[in-house]
Amino acid sequence: MKLFVVDDSLMARKVIKTVAGALGFETIEAQDGIEALEMLPNIYSEISLILLDWNMPGLSGYDVLVKIRENDLYAQLPIMMVTTEGQKSHIVAAIRAGANNYLTKPFTADELESKLMECLQIEGDNI
Ligand SMILES: [Mg+2]
Repeated sequence: MKLFVVDDSLMARKVIKTVAGALGFETIEAQDGIEALEMLPNIYSEISLILLDWNMPGLSGYDVLVKIRENDLYAQLPIMMVTTEGQKSHIVAAIRAGANNYLTKPFTADELESKLMECLQIEGDNI
């Protein structure tokens, strides 16, 4: 399974890539929302989940979420918003806009793992 990791922080992308990689997931990365939206038409059929950072220059994760959900092609693609503690109040808006789950930064490897399993509705030995 492949995950699409959209985050302007190289460190965040590396952490997610490392944790996801240890679980057997491949990752594709974009460094901001504009790049993500450019890449999506070419990769949407091969990815199982988008991890979408909220705080990014240019388009916010929320803006990207709304744009993704405007396109029927991507209707089945699960999206997990990655927010900081202070943005927790925004989560309701994100869920209303079509996000499937959220992960709060900073997160532990265990938290990331359990959210990935939740989003993908898999048991763990089945990646
Ligand atoms: Mg960010």
